[in-house]
Amino acid sequence: MSKVKIKIVFLGHIPHSIDIDKIVKWQSELFEIMKPINTVAIVGNSDGAYWEFLDENIEEQLPSRDGADILLAVTNVPLQSNYFARRFADNRVCMTYSTMTEILKFDNIPLENLLFRVLYSVAFVYRRYGNRMPLMTEDTNFTHDETRGCIFDMNGVKTDVVYSLNGPQLCHSCVENLTTTPKYKIEKEVIDKVQGELKKIKKGLYYQLTDFIKRRPIFGNNYFISCCNNIGCHRLDNRNNNLGEINKMTISNRHNGRLEKKQFQCLNEVLCIVSSVLIQENIGVS
Ligand SMILES: [Zn+2]
Repeated sequence: MSKVKIKIVFLGHIPHSIDIDKIVKWQSELFEIMKPINTVAIVGNSDGAYWEFLDENIEEQLPSRDGADILLAVTNVPLQSNYFARRFADNRVCMTYSTMTEILKFDNIPLENLLFRVLYSVAFVYRRYGNRMPLMTEDTNFTHDETRGCIFDMNGVKTDVVYSLNGPQLCHSCVENLTTTPKYKIEKEVIDKVQGELKKIKKGLYYQLTDFIKRRPIFGNNYFISCCNNIGCHRLDNRNNNLGEINKMTISNRHNGRLEKKQFQCLNEVLCIVSSVLIQENIGVS
């Protein structure tokens, strides 16, 4: 199966910092992003009662697909009916960060994750409907109202979107639908590869670490704090020695009976994540 070609344009000014490089470099078995990513100015103002841009207004602003299978316009203005993505004629889609940014930032989710989720969902919908995006007026059933951490969660309650932006998945029922739709079914091999890709849509390593600590607080002493202090006391040009020192400290405390077995295991997990943070993100701690 060939990859779905998607052209991304920024529609109007995006006041938030989005890592375009990360988007352009993303590799998928399902779609490819056409370069370059351009910006198109918004002409005129909102025409909705709540400062939103109604569908006809947005549709007039959208450029052509320019040879791509799908055009995805990314904007920051509110869309009709408070949706974060709307489909338009000629395989064009518009998604917005309006009100979404605050939700993502509150949960420390990179803004790019929302864009990735939309990219995967529109590419699947395009294939499932016979290489075209169905219009909003058509009867469709590719989303589900229940929040399952799936890229096809409806997210009627907008804040639920965070569950499908940190290691999202295709739920069992969506896999069934995509692989058994007569005529337009998608190979299981592609689905399996995409499931692996979706797992990479995650929070930054620092926030993975803090989430981990929130889930498993090391109670009774400030051992973890002393570990952090140990890292913080040195610059990273001595990175391996720092980690070595922490390991020695951990083992020594274990031998001295200052750490329970559970705490010891927990701390080892923390060490693995700390190592990943230091090595993969090459953080210079001072
Ligand atoms: Zn699903």
